Amino acid sequence: MMDEIRYTAVQVSYYVICRRKLWLFSRGIAQEYESEDVAIGRLIDEVFYRRQRDREEDYTALMDRLKIDFLTVGDGVIVNEVKKSKALERAHIVQVKYYLLAFKRLGVKVKYGIIRYPKLRRTEKVYLSGEDEREIEEILKGIDSVLSLPVPPPPINASYCKRCAYYSFCYG
Ligand code: SF4
Repeated sequence: MMDEIRYTAVQVSYYVICRRKLWLFSRGIAQEYESEDVAIGRLIDEVFYRRQRDREEDYTALMDRLKIDFLTVGDGVIVNEVKKSKALERAHIVQVKYYLLAFKRLGVKVKYGIIRYPKLRRTEKVYLSGEDEREIEEILKGIDSVLSLPVPPPPINASYCKRCAYYSFCYG
């Protein structure tokens, strides 16, 4: 079980998508634009880190904002993620599982996550199992290894590279 939420959900999804992207992003090498997904991830991450950094700090306003925009609260929290396509589905699922784990570690009761693909008119429910928690721990160790590299891993020549904000940086 992890002791802390030491990386952002965006970093976790980048680890799954491309380790080079993770390395570049984590070293602060700017992308050409910040997608809405990344902006949402940042907001959620800000809540988690604020909570971790200073437990006395009032983070209620941010939590409220998150609930209104991304979460449904009944007898537990439902994490909603909206994605454009299923091309990076595994990364989407891992990202949502990381959110679920992060909420759990904050003591928030979570039910499940829903990934919505409006263009495809599809939704997918995501649950967090003990095995998922172990997988996330392995991912976090993998991120440690990638970020300890002195230079970025090489480009991966994936089909989705053309849609990546680092495309010109990697292949320009
Ligand atoms: S363009 Fe491809 S190789 Fe470069 S960071 Fe993006 S996904 Fe990775």
